Amino acid sequence: MEKFFKRSCLQQITPYVPGKPVEELEREFGLKNIIKMASNENPLGPSPMALEAVRNFLSGMNFYPDGNAFLLKKDLASYLGLQEENIIPGNGADELITLVGAAYLNPGDEIIMAHPSFSCYEFSAFLMDAVPRRICTRDFHFDLEAMAAAVTSKTRIIFICNPNNPTGTIVTHRQLESFLKNLPPEVLVVIDEAYNEYVTDPDYPSSLSFLDEGLNILILRTFSKIYGLAGLRIGYGLAGREVIADLNSVREPFNVNAAAQVAARAALRDTEHIRAGRELNLRAKEYLYKEFKRLGLPYVPTEANFVFVDVKVDSRDLYQSLLRKGVIVRPGDIFGYPQYLRVSFGTEEQNCRFISALEESLEQLGSKSAL
Ligand SMILES: *Cc1c(COP(=O)(O)O)cnc(C)c1O
Repeated sequence: MEKFFKRSCLQQITPYVPGKPVEELEREFGLKNIIKMASNENPLGPSPMALEAVRNFLSGMNFYPDGNAFLLKKDLASYLGLQEENIIPGNGADELITLVGAAYLNPGDEIIMAHPSFSCYEFSAFLMDAVPRRICTRDFHFDLEAMAAAVTSKTRIIFICNPNNPTGTIVTHRQLESFLKNLPPEVLVVIDEAYNEYVTDPDYPSSLSFLDEGLNILILRTFSKIYGLAGLRIGYGLAGREVIADLNSVREPFNVNAAAQVAARAALRDTEHIRAGRELNLRAKEYLYKEFKRLGLPYVPTEANFVFVDVKVDSRDLYQSLLRKGVIVRPGDIFGYPQYLRVSFGTEEQNCRFISALEESLEQLGSKSAL
């Protein structure tokens, strides 16, 4: 075999482990009726208005998409009360996380993120030969003091995941405001709000006001979660003109596909779908809290559409046992918490099935370890 050179960063990057697709589990175990509560998707499905918009679009798929996403940016601008030059759509918020690294990280630069938090942040650092500094959460909450203390002259980007994935906890408006105002102005803070539509805590930041104040932030949002469009890949970033221009200069010309653009515009208008998603989420949260209490399993109170729960057994074993019962969740070991599960909220029926499968699996695992 011919020798060839590879970038050294490849040794540091471990490929992202996605939630197991339903079809894969069907093939592996020959199961039917599988439920996926592993990737924080909307259990109600996509907005019917988005579906209709995509159907109407399909015959135009021979054309390249609008590389500037003109109409989508216009809709988002009026929805958010911003200018179009403050908005950049991406191929999922994930793409924007990679782009912010591509725009701002030189080899040896540092980013600061929490642990546990969303793994895409460290990927974007590794890809640019930059160094991620991971600051442990305290009682599952961001330790903003420790994050501020970790800032050095090499720090370029700080990632605040709010609510945080996988803990579901939030940073409040006042906490975030004083954090932002005490940072060196040249550090960019990425505020990842993938789950913001689910939050009910009144102390949740109105991050757009920080943008108005001219603070150096990039807000990320997505159509993958409450809007139910994860399969189409579309999210967006909000920032000052200069940051948006920098991100535009490192993106591909047609980064957001045409179906995603029309679907997102329709989904944005479907307020009924959003309302239903939120309401279902609240009921699911209430039900699962009650069941976890009954089972004696401590959980981290969540503001998102998933919950991080202490299952008191090896989460890999429990994950495997749940898989055999047709229930896909996320084992906590991938986040460094081997006794936790991250469970996405489902429909009422899915939540019930998860709880009975969980109860059965815990009994099976418990009796095994008692032997
Ligand atoms: C799901 C998620 C995203 C968004 O992902 P997309 O690429 O838009 O699908 C971003 N950040 C966090 C923390 C997430 O959990």
